[in-house]
Amino acid sequence: MSVLVVVECDKGEVKKSSLEVASYGAQVAQALGTTATAIAVGEASEASLASLGEQGISKVLYDNEARLKEFVNGAYTKLIAAAAEQEQAQVIVLANSNIGTSVGSRLAVRLQASLATNVVELPRVEGGNFIVKRGAYSGKAFSDVVLLNDRKIIAVKKNSIEALHNAGQTAQVQSFSAQLADTDFADAPKQVIMQEQTGGVPLPEADKVVSGGRGMKGPENWHLIEDLAKALGAATACSKPVSDVDWRPHHEHVGQTGITVSPNLYIACGISGAIQHLAGVNSSKVIVVINKDPEAPFFKAADYGIVGDVFDVLPKLTQAVKELG
Ligand code: FAD
Repeated sequence: MSVLVVVECDKGEVKKSSLEVASYGAQVAQALGTTATAIAVGEASEASLASLGEQGISKVLYDNEARLKEFVNGAYTKLIAAAAEQEQAQVIVLANSNIGTSVGSRLAVRLQASLATNVVELPRVEGGNFIVKRGAYSGKAFSDVVLLNDRKIIAVKKNSIEALHNAGQTAQVQSFSAQLADTDFADAPKQVIMQEQTGGVPLPEADKVVSGGRGMKGPENWHLIEDLAKALGAATACSKPVSDVDWRPHHEHVGQTGITVSPNLYIACGISGAIQHLAGVNSSKVIVVINKDPEAPFFKAADYGIVGDVFDVLPKLTQAVKELG
């Protein structure tokens, strides 16, 4: 019996959300009196995989097959299922990401496992029941879910737990093959088009996000958002109406019908804070709202609020960030 953690990698590095997932898996393993093994997917370097020891992982399995560098649902599912069988994993932990939730549902069918997505806390065992807490209704409510099947799959929401950092600990990296056939790659994308990102940070993974709404008045003013984002090393985002009228590209739109982000810092500039917008940003660690209307609903969700005109506040804020270095 063991815990298997699915670690997503990109450009040689382990994604931040997967560091949290690894730490989650290690803590579950410790509570169950077993060890946590990781299976890495995507483009990974040996050094970055070995450093997963800092998050409490003892062993990392990695298949260096070139076609696995990009997400392929069928192949990833078979690879992870094979690793779960080899390790006799009772609990499989993955990120509540596009990859994690797509693969998680397929794995649940293949392994006849219980699946809980959007999980926000470590599990607890009460009266023999294995219980996880998950967010519901766009983070407005929580529910406790009992995972009944012997095998359990948990998709952990980003920023729900702190990543462990046991400096100097290393994991053993082992090559692993699931004997994948060409048919396992039948759903491979023909071409992957990377969307241009301000600051070079993909929005779903960004640690800091500066976002603009209709209060920015027009695309000609977006340099104010970009200047602050550049000074902070942040990605840029926008509200839905902004992308609907083509002020910004659609891949920057966050919210219920757009991308969900969970950065450490989300700065909302001229955004009212409609429930559909909040649904995509309310798991951010710190929310800063700049709005000239003191009654704007976003202030209720804010950790820090600035009542003011974005055209006055943003240049000053950018200048202050630059001065602080
Ligand atoms: P507005 O509501 O027009 O707000 C602009 C804000 O800017 C105001 O609060 C105003 O006080 C402030 N402002 C104006 N001028 C200034 C200034 N000079 N300085 C400072 N502040 C200023 N929206 C999303 O964002 N994401 C979604 O995914 C999404 N999905 C939706 C799904 C459905 C089914 C529906 C019905 C709606 C959805 N919406 C979504 C739209 C959502 O309901 C809101 O209409 C939208 O979020 C409002 O965008 P906004 O805050 O940019 O604009």
